Amino acid sequence: MRIAVVGTGYVGLVAGACFAESGNDVVCVDNNQAKVRLLRRGKVPIYEPGLEELVRRNRAEKRLTFTTTLAKAVRDSAVIFIAVGTPQGEDGSADLKHVLDVAREIARAMNGYKVIVDKSTVPVGTSEKVREVIRRETTHPFSVVSNPEFLKQGAAIDDFLKPDRVVIGAEDPRAQALMLELYEPFTRTGAPVMVMDCASAELAKYAANAMLATRISFMNEVANVCELVGADVDQVRLAIGSDKRIGNSFLFPGIGYGGSCFPKDVQAMKRFAADKDYSFKILEAVEGVNKYQKTKLVAAMKKHFGSLKGKTIGVWGLAFKPRTDDMREAPAVPMIEALVSAGVSVQAFDPEAMRVAKGIFGSRITYATSAYDAVKGADALAILTEWNEFRRPDFSRIRSLMRSPTVFDGRNLFVPAHMKQNGFTYYSIGRS
Ligand code: NAD
Repeated sequence: MRIAVVGTGYVGLVAGACFAESGNDVVCVDNNQAKVRLLRRGKVPIYEPGLEELVRRNRAEKRLTFTTTLAKAVRDSAVIFIAVGTPQGEDGSADLKHVLDVAREIARAMNGYKVIVDKSTVPVGTSEKVREVIRRETTHPFSVVSNPEFLKQGAAIDDFLKPDRVVIGAEDPRAQALMLELYEPFTRTGAPVMVMDCASAELAKYAANAMLATRISFMNEVANVCELVGADVDQVRLAIGSDKRIGNSFLFPGIGYGGSCFPKDVQAMKRFAADKDYSFKILEAVEGVNKYQKTKLVAAMKKHFGSLKGKTIGVWGLAFKPRTDDMREAPAVPMIEALVSAGVSVQAFDPEAMRVAKGIFGSRITYATSAYDAVKGADALAILTEWNEFRRPDFSRIRSLMRSPTVFDGRNLFVPAHMKQNGFTYYSIGRS
């Protein structure tokens, strides 16, 4: 099948590469010329494990091409995916400007029947808005489909090639059939393809992210209570996770959720409920807890040191989660800002996000060349992202490099008793 994917970010580029991998001819469109130039040279502008190789292979096979010219891509394709950003608007709602601009451009270029698929995360009613925009611009027949994406950054390719489920919001049988054909290679192992109305498909994506954010905030509150009553959140987590009704995933406490999705999607869901005069009370609390959680580690440092002025703090981890270079809404950003304002010299290291971090903090912090380099002369180490490579460090080397062996672990990477044996003062989340 010939398909176009508009927007070559974390979602669009992965979708495009995976559709090409399953034998389709895919043209990826982006209005960012620098990005397209890089992609045409086989370079992937973001860090996502396995993506560069997939892009290179499918480019070489000529199944995957890149362009800034949307019109030709539309004319040449039967199915066009919209995978552009839907950032948070000023009032918390999803900003649909990019989605609707792209819909208009698609309509103007149409030369026959097209299926236009919304893969961006968009509020209920957007497929109808897209339909209206297109109808105004063309007399050609078309169908609009809602196909929300559930991939996780850091494991995006696996998630796309082996999805837990595929959700297709499509009322038109012709569009349904095309979508089922397109996804058939990824659902052979029995992953369900759920065909439903557009409103339910659109809402399902928000409900999924809101539920996951709720689990994180819930566990963060459990951890906070553990600290107050002298319980160990790891034991509590294992005890509740073994209940099949609860399950073990997304039960790890930490320093709050971040990324380009959970914060904005929780906001947007609250907003579109409020537009219908419904106050989504749980999500208010979820956000409140998340905001508080992002302040915890710095508060613990202040308590430990009294004043932070003049201290040097090594930071391990900047990305909002491991296996990505994405720092959008990363807890590391407000934390480092708070440390810098308190007069701390921050020495930061992240395996993949250093370039992005330099764009955010500039010369206000220093950038270490390795995890060990980050703790040189430090009064404390703060762990903000749970990269696997941080899990088994040489503790005696760290101790010898630091001015004082103190660790504030926002991701519970280590066992408190081991840290004590290793001579560290150790603070973690929800464990005494
Ligand atoms: P992104 O910011 O990484 O990428 C968006 C891309 O769209 C950029 O390359 C941008 O240049 C391009 N773009 C914007 N306007 C354009 C236009 N008019 N024409 C052509 N290209 C244009 O975004 P993302 O993280 O890939 O997310 C895209 C959507 O998917 C969002 O709605 C997001 O909520 C949703 N989503 C994201 C994830 C994730 O993990 N990142 C997962 C599921 C769903």
